[in-house]
Amino acid sequence: TEIRELLLRRIRDVADYPEPGVMFKDITPLLADPAAFTALTDALAEIAERTGATKVVGLEARGFILGAPVAVRAGLGFIPVRKAGKLPGATLAQAYDLEYGSAEIEVHAEDLTAGDRVLIVDDVLATGGTAEASVQLIRRAGAEVAGLAVLMELGFLSGRVRLEPSLNGAPLEAL
Ligand code: 5GP
Repeated sequence: TEIRELLLRRIRDVADYPEPGVMFKDITPLLADPAAFTALTDALAEIAERTGATKVVGLEARGFILGAPVAVRAGLGFIPVRKAGKLPGATLAQAYDLEYGSAEIEVHAEDLTAGDRVLIVDDVLATGGTAEASVQLIRRAGAEVAGLAVLMELGFLSGRVRLEPSLNGAPLEAL
C-alpha cells in the first residue's frame, strides 16, 4: 500500500549495529520527514481508536517518540514504560531475559488502573521480549491490553509467535 511505501522508504538499514552481524533498522530518517511521521502517527492513532484504547503506553525510548503524538492525536493519556531506575514514584517492575543477561522495565503504579484499555506502542518488534514484559506489567497493574502497535515487525525473529499466548486475542498490528 501507499503508506507502507512511504514508511519503508524512510527506514535505513545499518549493517553491524550495535554489534557485528546485526542489521539495525534506523527510524531517524522517518522522524525527520514530516509527511512520513504524520502518516505514521495517524495510522497508529487509528489503531488506538479502533481497539477502543483508553491509554497509550510507550516503551523506552523510541516508543516514547512514536507513542506521545499518537496519544495526543487520539485524545488519550500517555504512560511511559521505562528502564528500571528512571521513574521517581512508586512503580511496578517486570524483569525479562535478554540474549545475554536480563533487563527490567517499570511503570508508575498509579498511572494504570482496572478499567483501562491500553495500546502499547513501540517502533520495532524483534524477539518480543520487551513487549511481552510490558504486557505482563500492564496486566499486573490491573489494566487490560487493547493491543500492540508497532511500525515494524522483524518476522524472522518470531516475536509474534512468542507474544501470541500472552496477547490473549488482543491484536498485534505492524504497519
Ligand atoms: P525485542 O525485545 O522485541 O527483542 O526488541 C525490541 C526492542 O529493541 C524495541 O524497544 C526496539 O526499539 C529495539 N530494537 C531491536 N531491534 C531494533 C532495530 O533493528 N531497530 C530499532 N529501531 N529498534 C530495535
